[in-house]
Amino acid sequence: VNAEDRRVRSLRPAVVRPLELERPLDVLVEEVDVLVEEERTPEGAVRSATVFLLGAECPFTCVFCDLWRHTVPGPTPRGALPAQLDVALAALPSGVEQLKLYNASNFFEPRAVPDADREAILERIAGFERVVVESHPRLLGERAAWWATRLGHGAAGRLEVALGLETVHPGAFERLNKGAVPADYERAARRLRELGLGLRCFVLVGVPFVEESEQVEWVLRTVRRAREIGARVASLIPVRGGNGELERLRAAGSWRPPSLDQFEACVDAAIGEDRGAQGGMVVQADPWDLETLGRGAHCSRCVPARVDRLRRINQLGVAVARIECPACGVGAGARR
Ligand code: SF4
Ligand SMILES: [Zn+2]
Repeated sequence: VNAEDRRVRSLRPAVVRPLELERPLDVLVEEVDVLVEEERTPEGAVRSATVFLLGAECPFTCVFCDLWRHTVPGPTPRGALPAQLDVALAALPSGVEQLKLYNASNFFEPRAVPDADREAILERIAGFERVVVESHPRLLGERAAWWATRLGHGAAGRLEVALGLETVHPGAFERLNKGAVPADYERAARRLRELGLGLRCFVLVGVPFVEESEQVEWVLRTVRRAREIGARVASLIPVRGGNGELERLRAAGSWRPPSLDQFEACVDAAIGEDRGAQGGMVVQADPWDLETLGRGAHCSRCVPARVDRLRRINQLGVAVARIECPACGVGAGARR
């Protein structure tokens, strides 16, 4: 923890951190349709489930990150993750092909995922066709290789690793306190290829230090970069306030929370980069964040339809006409 990490952490509001470790934080089965939960992948639509595991906090301190809220201060206790998985898997409907194990930290870090639990975790997830985990680009060492060997079985991309690519805006990236430099992503992508692991990239919408008028362009550039380094999926995530540092940046004029409008504009631009139908990179709006964004929007009349439109874009991989709302005027200029 360096001085900048300490400063950002000191601004964090006091929150009640989860302490009960026998249950996962949440089990979210992504709903694109009422009956079938699916995510587009380069191989087509799959039934996908996301499990939010609860464990140790990430050692990095990115200025936009609020994931520490969903972590515990010490290391993940031994046995907690297998126990959480048991609860989560019992709650899943049948036919789930893809399992996302998101731990608000780094899957290949022993503080977060104890080595002693690896076999027990492996046993529980080995039956899924694809498993997605998250990691910082600098944490793809021996443990990533262990999982690649044990879970990969040589099938390319059976284990997929999600990296926060965030933004390729050089000035902004540098100030995110990411604990990485741009070249780390190329190295990480190469390492994943060598290990036979798939790559997923998270792309931020509403990046601090990027002018509002330039957000769409930098999201687009970042999505293109994700494709260049071989991502299977680029997932757009709106930056959420509430971690203290973002409020400071907002007061200083360096950040504004992205509106639903802005998020839609970014998705509309980025979806042009989708090559999912050709077995290439899929572009999507992060399904978990859609509800959050909707809640923050000021017009209650059009929000469900707009969120639904984003879901349809996720499902189809092509542009879908904007919703026009007579109440707030959104989308009214779209056809002129
Ligand atoms: S590396 Fe990921 S989890 Fe860690 S502080 Fe940064 S955004 Fe948050
Ligand atoms: Zn409206």
